[in-house]
Amino acid sequence: MTGLLYDERFLLHRAPYAHPEHPGRLEAIQASLRKEGLVERCRRVQAREATAEELTSVHTEEHIAAIAATGQHDFTELDPDTYAGRESASAAWLAAGGLAELTAAVLGGQVGNGFALLRPPGHHAEADRPMGFCLFNNVAIAARKAQRLGVGRILIVDWDVHHGNGTQRTFWDDAEVLYFSTHQFPFYPGTGTILETGGDRARGYTVNVPWPGGMGDAEYLAAFERVLLPIARRFRPELVLVSCGFDAAKGDLLGQMLLTPEGYAALTSTLLGLARGRVVLALEGGYNLDAISAAACACLRVLIGELPGLQDFGQPNALAMRVLDQVILAQRPFWPEL
Ligand code: ZN
Repeated sequence: MTGLLYDERFLLHRAPYAHPEHPGRLEAIQASLRKEGLVERCRRVQAREATAEELTSVHTEEHIAAIAATGQHDFTELDPDTYAGRESASAAWLAAGGLAELTAAVLGGQVGNGFALLRPPGHHAEADRPMGFCLFNNVAIAARKAQRLGVGRILIVDWDVHHGNGTQRTFWDDAEVLYFSTHQFPFYPGTGTILETGGDRARGYTVNVPWPGGMGDAEYLAAFERVLLPIARRFRPELVLVSCGFDAAKGDLLGQMLLTPEGYAALTSTLLGLARGRVVLALEGGYNLDAISAAACACLRVLIGELPGLQDFGQPNALAMRVLDQVILAQRPFWPEL
């Protein structure tokens, strides 16, 4: 059974002007899932507020207090990209706590895998500051939760079109958490080069695949097959958390990648072969409502157990293969199987 996290209160996080990260994103995805009859096939997991212990496992007290304080004002511009309305802090508490709850449900065996339709997103949020539409780093908090529940090896896969600077930094020196990211580069936020491979105590536990726009299904699958899977087979994760950005989809308003719903499904299917299928997808970015709805349906079908048909995604392009060659060169000292 797949656990589905969704809460109407995630819609209360909104800006008083047009912003790409708006409540309509979740409404569109939720409407599509309903139309395709997928919601009824999942077990609903209720959101709850993150505890202070969960939040401080990633964020500073000052950061948490600053986000809480936004609840006193109609609107706070936290940085030029990142806003908080009066209800945003409450949504952020529920998103972080909800994902921790869903992750615990997967680890406890109440559900086999999970999909979290949440906002605000999280992967840009750093320990001490909100950033890039993100207030709390939901996935990082969920990973810390899993560690506290005794999980020794966690794989975070970040296929959002942007690099998850906050997540990378959180686990920079932690060899229990392997962070793998594919992202457009150069691009916001500017981090995520091939040579960023982790701190002294965790060399090789940060794996970045930065590449130009124009990469599609064949290229992403090649990154998984040539880089992620050989490393993951050695690392043997007990849990896979996915920073599930649908802004790498074809037609996105911010990213220039070309992933199709079938491509996202194939990536999800690949991950289900790891960690005995204990995979949790947590929504990050994605700004084309049609594209994110189709991609979310495709991913959820795979989580539910519908096998994606065998597809020929063609050959990855030469530019992608050159980037992957460079990633392999940088990571091989830590992962001889590459
Ligand atoms: Zn993004």
